[in-house]
Order: sequence, then structure tokens, then C-alpha cells
Amino acid sequence: MRLKNVGDVAAWRLCAGCGACVYGCKEKKVRLVDIEEDGIRPVIDGYCKDCKDCLDFCPGIEVSHKNLDSVPGAAPALKKGWGPVLEIWEGYSADPEIRFKSSSGGLASAIALFCIGNRGMHGVLHTGAKDFEAWKNGTVLSRTRDEVLLRTGSRYSPASPCDGLERIEKAPSPCVFIGKPCDIAALRKAEEKRPGLKRNVGLAIGIFCAGTPSTRGTLELLKKFKAAASDVSDIRYRGMGWPGKWVANLNWGYPAISIPYSEAWGFLQKFRPLRCHLCPDGTSEFADLSCGDPWHREIKEGEQGYSLVLVRTEKGRKILRAALDAGYVYLKKAGPAALKNSQDNLLNKRKAIWGRLLGMKMLFLPTPALNGFSLYENWKELDRAGKLRSVLGTIKRILRRGYLRRLKYRIPEILERKERAQ
Ligand SMILES: Cc1cc2nc3c(=O)[nH]c(=O)nc-3n(C[C@H](O)[C@H](O)[C@H](O)COP(=O)(O)OP(=O)(O)OC[C@H]3O[C@@H](n4cnc5c(N)ncnc54)[C@H](O)[C@@H]3O)c2cc1C
Ligand code: SF4
Ligand code: SF4
Repeated sequence: MRLKNVGDVAAWRLCAGCGACVYGCKEKKVRLVDIEEDGIRPVIDGYCKDCKDCLDFCPGIEVSHKNLDSVPGAAPALKKGWGPVLEIWEGYSADPEIRFKSSSGGLASAIALFCIGNRGMHGVLHTGAKDFEAWKNGTVLSRTRDEVLLRTGSRYSPASPCDGLERIEKAPSPCVFIGKPCDIAALRKAEEKRPGLKRNVGLAIGIFCAGTPSTRGTLELLKKFKAAASDVSDIRYRGMGWPGKWVANLNWGYPAISIPYSEAWGFLQKFRPLRCHLCPDGTSEFADLSCGDPWHREIKEGEQGYSLVLVRTEKGRKILRAALDAGYVYLKKAGPAALKNSQDNLLNKRKAIWGRLLGMKMLFLPTPALNGFSLYENWKELDRAGKLRSVLGTIKRILRRGYLRRLKYRIPEILERKERAQ
């Protein structure tokens, strides 16, 4: 099936919601909307010339490792499951407030602050809660410690940080970018197309990701506590301790709602869209540095946060070492077992992807091109029941959820404008 623009990508549920197509469309015809049950998705707003430029920026339809075998220093045994890994560390931010408020050990924020404070970088493009719709996310360019501190913590709801790439391209000096694996993959595609952007990306920090629940997930979670979006003044999905709590502060003096992170994630994960179930990159393989949780050991009550950080490139290695020397972070070396035992769920998901894609192809649905992830070799490691489940489970889910049809969404202002123009 031929996809003619990112509108088709979204309609066939292949969009990952990164926002890069907004930056990629020279005609400025792509707009993002939050489809409550799916995620942040593009709509073509106006006449599309079918130039397909937007598709060149899109990680939803294609993500490829081009030179995985020639990345110098990458551990050969880790490539199949985790992409290029030069070093593995565990550590935390030396700034206690950053460490406390962040998701894990605050390494993503601490390294970004090092780049701004010691490397002369202009700021960090990343995700934060929207000012007046705290249950939604926006893309922000943070320049100070307070701004970075405000945006610490993972937000388990749609975010499209690549819609702000123009701000990096136009910045007076290089910037840090923080995003999920699909956001980082989109950034790398955009860098190939726009040399000005590439020159100004000082560092790409990826976070690990098992999938982004749709906005409906957050709304249904609020509903469980008899709250609505309009009641919310602020939501944090975790942080304020490790792994922290999901906390919704409410307007009008009502007491805040608070449940443990694990309970919130247990509820929200059911709202992950199809594209996340097809995603083999859980650990930001295209980043310079990627951060996740060191779940490989039990976390004691009241323990302060730690992050696992993977060095992916020489640039990442140099910056991490310099941040350590400058006292921004504390680090100790970790081994491959720490990675595998922390993120076994991500590896198991990767093993199922080849079968899931086969299930979709059997139904003649379009699938993303995912090259360099050793998908078949990983799938072969499943037992017979796992192999069957990966194919048949996907077919069942597609039929049950009506995914043989295009996802249709109607945007009232666009429809109105079209009607007026007729
Ligand atoms: C949807 C989602 C799924 C995740 N799944 C896993 C997982 O399976 N395993 C695991 O170990 N870790 C997962 N994480 C990452 C983990 O929660 C931490 O973000 C990571 O450990 C980094 O912690 P930190 O303390 O270094 O980050 P912090 O210093 O707290 O910084 C977090 C950074 O992430 C950015 N951010 C927050 N939410 C989003 C978002 N939705 N999209 C893009 N950027 C965002 C913030 O802007 C901030 O810059 C997930 C995160 C998200 C958002
Ligand atoms: S994955 Fe990103 S670039 Fe592709 S359609 Fe979705 S928002 Fe646009
Ligand atoms: S699972 Fe993959 S596609 Fe989904 S949000 Fe995470 S990185 Fe993006």
C-alpha cells in the first residue's frame, strides 16, 4: 500500500507522534492534533502537493541502522538486542533537587545542564506539561536550571518534541535534545536532510521507552478518582523520590490524588497505541547517551534515585566523562547483566516484533520498515508458543479493534475552513 503523506501514516496507525513532519514540511501544511485514543498525530491542513518531503522525516514508516557493524567500540554481543553500546554506567545527578524530582537519578537533566553550563550550549529542547492544560505536554526550550528542573520526570502521555526542531536550527549555539527513542530516530533523519540542524545538535539524550499511553489513558485514570481534566492544575507521572508517584494536583482546594508509579503505569500501559507495539527500539539506539531505570535490583523504601546510562557514540562518551570530571554527576561502571536484568521486558518485546509485522502483512496492512534490529534473529529465540502468539495475537488484536480500517479523525476547525472555502 502506498502512503502519500504523513496523513496516511497516521491513518494506518504507524505514526509514533514525534512531530518531525511539522518541521519537515516546507509548505507548513502539517499540523499536530491530539487524538485522544491514539496520540499526537499530524493532519494535513490545506492543499498537499504530494511532494512526500514529510515522509523523509518520519520514523513511523522507517527506522534503520545504517552502519551498526562499523560503530567503533560498540560491544558486539550487545548489538542484536540493544544496538550500539560503548559503555554502561549507573549514577545520579550531583544536584540533590534534580535527583529527587527527576524520574530516576536525574542523569538526563544533569547532563543537559552540564552542556549548558560548561559547554556553552544554548539550551535543551524537550518536553514539559502545558501551562494551562497540565494533562497535556508541550515542547519547550529550557535554558536555566529552574526551567530544566520544572521539566524533570517522565510524562507517560503523548509528547512530540521534534515539532520544535526549528528552534534548535535557529539557535545562536548548539542545543541539547532530549526525547524518546522514536524522537531521537526522527532527529537523526531530520539531521540528514537539514545540515543547519545537524550543526546545532550539541548532544542527543534518549530515554528508554516501553510505549506512550494515549491522552485517554490519563483521562481514564483521573476518572477513576472522579476527577476531570478541567479539575487538574498539575500532573506528575513519577519523580519526587524513586520511582516516585503519579500525582494530580486539583483546582479549587481539593486534595491531590496520588498513587504509586507502578500502579499508575499498570493502568496507563493498556492505552499504548499500535505503533508502540511494533517498536523495536526501547533504549534510544540513535542517541549519543540513553538513560533508563536500573531495575536490576530491588529498590528499598525511601531510596534515592539512580539512572542507567548507555554511551552510544564518541561524542556521548566525551561529554559524560567531562560531566563526571566537572562534578555534575556521580557514576559507577555497570556491566551488560545490569542492562539485561533491568530491561528484560524491552528485549522480550523486540523478540516479538518480526512476528507482529508478519501478522500485519498477512492482513495486507502497511508496516514500518525496521532495518538493522536483527528482528528475525531475535524472533527465532522465542519458543514455539511465543512465536505463534506474536503472529496470531497481532491478527486477533487488529480484527478485534477494527484496525483494518483507516483511523478517521475529524478536526472541527479544519472542516469548517474547508466548508467556508467551498
Ligand atoms: C513514555 C515513556 C516510557 C518509558 N519507558 C521506560 C522503560 O520501559 N524503561 C525505563 O527504564 N525507562 C522508561 N522510561 C524512562 C524513564 O521513565 C526515565 O525517563 C529515564 O530513566 C530517565 O530518567 P532521568 O531521571 O535521567 O530523567 P529526568 O532527569 O527526569 O529527565 C526526563 C526527561 O525526559 C523528558 N520527557 C518526559 N516525558 C517525555 C515524553 N513523554 N516524551 C519525550 N520526552 C519526555 C523530559 O522533558 C526530561 O527532559 C520511559 C519514559 C517515558 C516518557
Ligand atoms: S511519526 Fe513523527 S514524522 Fe511520522 S507522521 Fe508521526 S509525527 Fe509525523
Ligand atoms: S514505544 Fe517506540 S514508538 Fe512508542 S513512544 Fe516509545 S519509542 Fe516511540
